Amino acid sequence: MRPEILFPLYAPVTSLKGVGPRVAPLLQRLAGPVVRDVAFLKPHSVIVRTPAMLSASLDGQVMTFEVAIDDIQRPRGSAQPLRMRVSDPTGFMTLVFFGRFGDQIEKRHPVGARRIISGKVEDRAFGRQMVHPDYMVAPDKADEIPQIEAVYPATEGLPPRRVRGFAAEALERTPALPEWQDPAWLARERFPSWREALARLHAPEGDGDLSPLAPHMRRLAYDELLAQQLAMAQRKAERRKEPAAKIAPSEVAAAIRADLPFAFTGAQERSLGEIRADLAAGERMSRLIQGDVGSGKTVVAMCAMADVAVGGGQSALMAPTEILARQHYETIAGPLTAHGVGVILLTGRDKGAGRADKLRALASGAVKVAVGTHALFQDDVAFHQLQLAVIDEQHRFGVNDRQRLQTKGWATHMLAMSATPIPRTLELTVYGDLDVSRIDEKPPGRTPVATRAAPMTRINEVEARLRDAVAGGAQAFWICPMVSESELVDLKAAETRAMELKETIGPSVGLIHGKMAAGAKDTVMAEFADGRLSVLVATTVVEVGVNVPNATIMIIEQAERFGLAQLHQLRGRVGRGRQESACVLLYDPPLSETAQKRLDILRRTDDGFLIAETDLELRGGGDALGLKQSGFPDYVFADPFTHRDLIAAAGDDARLIVGRDPELTSERGKALRVLEELFDWKAGLGLRDAG
Ligand code: ADP
Ligand code: MG
Repeated sequence: MRPEILFPLYAPVTSLKGVGPRVAPLLQRLAGPVVRDVAFLKPHSVIVRTPAMLSASLDGQVMTFEVAIDDIQRPRGSAQPLRMRVSDPTGFMTLVFFGRFGDQIEKRHPVGARRIISGKVEDRAFGRQMVHPDYMVAPDKADEIPQIEAVYPATEGLPPRRVRGFAAEALERTPALPEWQDPAWLARERFPSWREALARLHAPEGDGDLSPLAPHMRRLAYDELLAQQLAMAQRKAERRKEPAAKIAPSEVAAAIRADLPFAFTGAQERSLGEIRADLAAGERMSRLIQGDVGSGKTVVAMCAMADVAVGGGQSALMAPTEILARQHYETIAGPLTAHGVGVILLTGRDKGAGRADKLRALASGAVKVAVGTHALFQDDVAFHQLQLAVIDEQHRFGVNDRQRLQTKGWATHMLAMSATPIPRTLELTVYGDLDVSRIDEKPPGRTPVATRAAPMTRINEVEARLRDAVAGGAQAFWICPMVSESELVDLKAAETRAMELKETIGPSVGLIHGKMAAGAKDTVMAEFADGRLSVLVATTVVEVGVNVPNATIMIIEQAERFGLAQLHQLRGRVGRGRQESACVLLYDPPLSETAQKRLDILRRTDDGFLIAETDLELRGGGDALGLKQSGFPDYVFADPFTHRDLIAAAGDDARLIVGRDPELTSERGKALRVLEELFDWKAGLGLRDAG
């Protein structure tokens, strides 16, 4: 329940003065639906209104002058403006007023009067002008002009000035709230109170106050992070309280491992150990295994599934696409069935009697492991006793999908797998409610992919080499970027490239893109996997995790447009077999210094975590990293790079709070509840309900 003290902040924006049916949608688009969102609007710059001389005026700048009114030119028609000539000892300017209030203006500002004016200067062919000054007052009323004013983002039909007015009113309606921060931490960080911090946000005293490093900005960021971390820590604690099947390590899993032609890496061993500790605890597991493509996540999950099967339970392994589901099935079905654990693959292709057979085997418990796609969520799919859900690339499933699978089992253990490397500093923001196991070690025997960058001007050379390699039996991916706003334009570019490559290389060039139907995509992918196609031109749909061991060449056009993590994942498509692999990053010169450095990292390392970390540092922000797609939250105040120290602190703070005062009943606990409601992260966390 929302505390009463927050009611004014959760009133709709229409409750603000001047927000009627025309303005409301604009303000909602700019800020959000409620008064709080307007109070949380951040100014992007400040205007300083210190008087200057007219001779110093600059086109396009907001400036302030003290002038005398020399002459007034009344409008000749109703469409004409009123013009006023003003001057100071260094020059003159024309003030322009539109509208039918000419008389009033003349009365208030007669010829001969002195005025302080402030507004945007415009240079026109006929001279300097200012249209509708922001301020125009007598010199003895100079203090009516704010010395410094915040400038807000605006939108078509809603100028910054009106936005400022709304923000000021929203701030006025914002109550002081009970302090939720630890007093020692407040003192150490020299944080103002929350209400003071918000007031300062809207009344910056200079550019320095706009910096994310200003104490009031850090305070707001910390509040936001703590609210989120607290919500996540509580969710995690609640899930822990749910009893779930106790599952013990099994002989069968040991036998399966003994049969594998390789030994687990240390990181795999550790991850399996962590999963087993969770499964044995009698509490619901919610763990994520993070590791590069090919780091061996699936075989670790397979061992956990074997343990579950031996205990009599069932597991479901879900993949976002049919081809990935099939590859998972191929990885695990052999080892599991060899030791008596029944496995089925269930996808959209299963129909009729074949499907019915599989469903029966699941419902009776004869089959212990189901691998599949969305098809696993269908209403008529019933498990005998689902105890473990393994979700590959979970961010690619909708909330509903995950929820539906969870409802098929009672307090199902959840194991997510992700190949998207998240910098360690940001891990808490994305996975704060999960336990994370990292597989940060590659299986031995993999040859690193030789990576080099080349300008697009050398594309003919690259194509010629590709032709030779293909003649020698090699297979290659050729990635075309999504660069324009229009998918159709991008598609055209990819089609053109495919045609061109067909001319140089021959008919074994295929094309796969996002607009294709799922079935058609699968067919092309399968042709490539079988070796019937030697070059696969693709927009970025090359599915994360797809395994084509014979593919040894990866060519990426306009590599500078991709996020580093994405480039790393794309490169991960090759270098999976024993042969030497190569990756060519084609770029449009000239490269910016940052772009150059980014491509350099890829040449130097193939450690996904290191790459993600460096990328974050180089670009200093979360948005550019494409983290949104991996579930990175949309913060108002917190910046993932600038405030990275606060992320860790908020995570620690949240854990401590939940440990000491899980129900938030202490004095501070009550205040923290207000904080949680203020930021309302719970709504966003719905996503996690399923997992
Ligand atoms: P991921 O799910 O992380 O992409 P997989 O579990 O599918 O990785 O493993 C990728 C490939 O590497 C599979 O063919 C698997 O058999 C193999 N593999 C896994 N672990 C090891 C290991 N420790 N040593 C050698 N090969 C391994
Ligand atoms: Mg995988």
